[in-house]
Formats: sequence, structure tokens, C-alpha cells
Amino acid sequence: FAINMNQLQLEDELGRGAYGTVKRVLHKPTNVAMAMKEIRLELDETKLNAIIMELDILHRAVHPSIVEFYGAFFIESCVYYCMEYMDAGSLDKLYGAGVPEPVLARIVCYMVKGLKFLKDELQIIHRDVKPTNVLVNKKGDIKLCDFGVSGQLEKSLAKTNIGCQSYMAPERIKGESQNALSTYTVSSDVWSLGLATLEIAVGQYPYPPETYSNVFAQLTAIVHGDPPELPNTYSDDAKDWVNRCLVKRPEGRASYAELMAHPFLRNDHLKEVDMRGWVARAFAWRSEQRQQQEEQQQQQQQQQH
Ligand code: ATP
Ligand code: MG
Repeated sequence: FAINMNQLQLEDELGRGAYGTVKRVLHKPTNVAMAMKEIRLELDETKLNAIIMELDILHRAVHPSIVEFYGAFFIESCVYYCMEYMDAGSLDKLYGAGVPEPVLARIVCYMVKGLKFLKDELQIIHRDVKPTNVLVNKKGDIKLCDFGVSGQLEKSLAKTNIGCQSYMAPERIKGESQNALSTYTVSSDVWSLGLATLEIAVGQYPYPPETYSNVFAQLTAIVHGDPPELPNTYSDDAKDWVNRCLVKRPEGRASYAELMAHPFLRNDHLKEVDMRGWVARAFAWRSEQRQQQEEQQQQQQQQQH
């Protein structure tokens, strides 16, 4: 069945990215809560139609580690994309000061399984692996979203600002080829996976913008500096696993099969990890932080008056 705007009741805003806004919506005919992403594009109807058609492949991306796709439509020059609503939000807002190793291993297992599924079953390379694209629900599920399935959509997004957090692999930053879309290989995703894992582990992006005088210096550090590592508070297995992702030469990075067979993850399915409990605590912490921020803002506003 095809989804359209008339069936949706708009609720609160879940977040904003570089290209648009994500809102929680209710799909009235089925009573299913969904997340709707609005992407503004200045395109003609033919190109918008091409994007909607390309997105159709997402109906086949059904896997426990992948956010479910419900459908897409366009109105004027906006593409609307409806997906499973993940009620604990994205990992960047939940990891706090970092996550304990057993939770980290479980999160990473889900991520690798999702990436491996996309690649093996659908020949899709994610292209945007980072903590904001790893979503969590209160049942403790971890799922990937925002992978690149539409070449047309990718081309249409104005990639003007790189942002202050780049998860791009060194070879992509160097831009060894003019056409990044065609040279992007699965190992570039493995680099991003390694950086994301580090960030989730320690609660901080590994190349913090405030330590560089500008974006150029930061990107230079990624391309020419030594890759970052997990601190010694993590096991040797965990550290080695991250090292196997963060190899500067793309050919030297581990494959997904190797990453799953690595001692860090090999026996994860035998372990009991209370993901539901971890999500509940992380979510409560996040709600508290938000409340404090709001109170501070209110106080500042009052002082100004
Ligand atoms: P970028 O634009 O650089 O990709 P981003 O991933 O944060 O950054 P969006 O993909 O537009 O940007 O998402 C904005 C925010 O909305 C996310 O950070 C996430 O917290 C929230 N979000 C996105 N999809 C969902 C979803 N399906 N369920 C719940 N929250 C979501
Ligand atoms: Mg996103």
C-alpha cells in the first residue's frame, strides 16, 4: 500500500539534520507511529519520481538491524520518507559519557549484522554510518537508518558543508577520484563503523572540533595522523577490533565476516546483556539533561527581562 500525507497526523519534531526535519507522525489508517523525514530538494517532477522509484528497494530491506521503511512520496519539491519510529532516538543522544564494554559489543554486533545484510543481500553500501544514524527503541533493539539507496537523491543533496564531524574514510576525504559515489567501497563504511564505535564507547567524537583550529586541520589529522584508538579501560579484544576497522589503507581493513568472527564479537550471542535496562537508564539520563537545559534557558530568558 502507498502512504500519502492525508493519512498522517503530524506530532512532535524528533530532530533536524543537514537536509531536513524528522517528525513523529501517526499513520491514521493503521494506527502505527512512524518517523517522517522531510527532505527539501529543488528538483523537477521526473527526478523526484526517479527518487521515489529508487527508494522502493527499501521495501526489501527487512532485517532486525534495519529500520523498517514504510514508503515515500513527494509534495512540491519535498521528498517525504516514512520509517519505523524508534522511541529512544539515536545513539548520539544516549551514549552519555560512554557505554560499558558488554553493551558496546552488543550494539556493534547489531550494526555489523545490519551492514553485512545490506551488502550481501541487497548490494547496498551504507555510506553514512555514524551514531545519529543508529536508532534505538525501548525494547533494546538497535537499528541502522539513512543508508544510500538512491543515486539521484544523493546527487541532489547539496553537499556544501562537511559539518564539524566527519566519519568519512581518509580515501574519501582525499577524493582519490572525482566521483566519490562510484569509488565508495564497503571498506569506507568499515572506517566509519570504527569511528562510530569509538565515539559510542567513550562518549565523544574521536576528532573533537575544539582541538583543531579549523575543519581543514581536522580533516588533515584524519588523513595524515595516526588513527585514534580505544583507551586502555577497554579489553585488548575490543581495542584490536577497533584497530582492524581504523586502518588507513582501505585494503587493510577487516571485512564484516572477519569483524563478526573476531574475539570481541565471536561469542556475543552467548552473553546475557540487559539492553532494555541500559536503554531505560540512558533514556532517563537524556530526559533529565533535556529538562536541565530547558530550565537553564528559561532562567537566562528571565534574567534578560
Ligand atoms: P545528518 O543530516 O548529518 O545525516 P542526522 O542523522 O542527525 O544528521 P537526520 O537523519 O535528519 O539527521 O535525523 C535527525 C534526527 O532525528 C536524528 O539525529 C535522530 O535523533 C532523529 N530520528 C531520525 N530518524 C528517526 C526515527 N526513525 N525514529 C526516531 N528518531 C529519529
Ligand atoms: Mg540521519
